[in-house]
Amino acid sequence: ERGAGRDNTVARIKVVVRKRPINKKELARKEDDIVTIEDNSTVTVHEPKLKVDLTAYVEKHEFVFDAVLDESVSNDEVYNVTVEPIVPAIFQRTKATCFAYGQTGSGKTYTMQPLPLRASQDILGLMQQSSYKYEGFQLWLSFFEIYGGKLYDLLNERRKLCMREDGRQQVCIVGLKEYRVSDVQLVKEYIDKGNASRSTGSTGANEESSRSHAILQLVIKKSPDGSDAKAAARPQGKLSFIDLAGSERGADTTDNDRQTRMEGAEINKSLLALKECIRALDNDQGHIPFRGSKLTEVLRDSFVGDSRTVMISCISPNAGSCEHTLNTLRYADRVK
Ligand code: ADP
Ligand code: MG
Repeated sequence: ERGAGRDNTVARIKVVVRKRPINKKELARKEDDIVTIEDNSTVTVHEPKLKVDLTAYVEKHEFVFDAVLDESVSNDEVYNVTVEPIVPAIFQRTKATCFAYGQTGSGKTYTMQPLPLRASQDILGLMQQSSYKYEGFQLWLSFFEIYGGKLYDLLNERRKLCMREDGRQQVCIVGLKEYRVSDVQLVKEYIDKGNASRSTGSTGANEESSRSHAILQLVIKKSPDGSDAKAAARPQGKLSFIDLAGSERGADTTDNDRQTRMEGAEINKSLLALKECIRALDNDQGHIPFRGSKLTEVLRDSFVGDSRTVMISCISPNAGSCEHTLNTLRYADRVK
């Protein structure tokens, strides 16, 4: 459907599912792969169940999405279906957001990490074209984390940040470092540096980072006179990459540890608020419930105006993850 004015050739909300390959540990446990992908848009979960008389049977759950990617699909192909189509729009003030959602271990970070690099490559490539359409633009990068409802700058020694809203309902993260990037190598260095400073806590890297949302933003700026000065450059479009907290963490609300319980409640709140915001976006409702959580407040300007949302729902194939996989697919189903 093509409308006048807005570029409707790219869907406003796209929901993509990615299944990761079964791994050695799961195979060693003789776990079945219970996820099948019939075509490029349908995924089926074969849930093992027991009748009251303890005979085994399988309940099938089928879901349809914009795209369903099986374990043979590479990160480059993921980029091609998710982010690549929205890159040109950010030169026209579009705010685009790409989320990775799923339980810990389902492949969120694996999927998300290469995307901003590929996007920067394309953005910088367009800027180097001689076309007037891409003249006078600059690319800026920032990387921060939301952990326990608080913001930390991943590119400035985890400095604590606060959020402010100006009179025009624009969100501003006070003190967040933004770096101008003009080559892909530099982008890679910032991404690596930021990933290295994600929360690790005392229990080990993966455990703690699964309780935080990591947000990498690429901002396009334009100086009115084509000059290089930062002061003159005005933000145009934005592309945000969000490696969400492990979706199962939202259920940590009855844990014995008070800290874990609080973090679980915060994650639960933010994932629910995110779903509501995306749904509101699709319905073109006037009211978008940003205030539900820190995550949605921070993303406020990406939910208004001409925005694009890509949700990549990552799923594990093993039988032991069945419940989490179904939860992830049901969440994605509500968003699409
Ligand atoms: P999450 O961030 O959701 O906790 P990770 O991205 O850390 O999960 O992935 C868990 C493990 O599975 C990692 O060792 C990762 O390298 C591997 N993995 C995830 N997705 C894939 C994939 N599509 N192909 C190969 N390995 C993958
Ligand atoms: Mg991760």
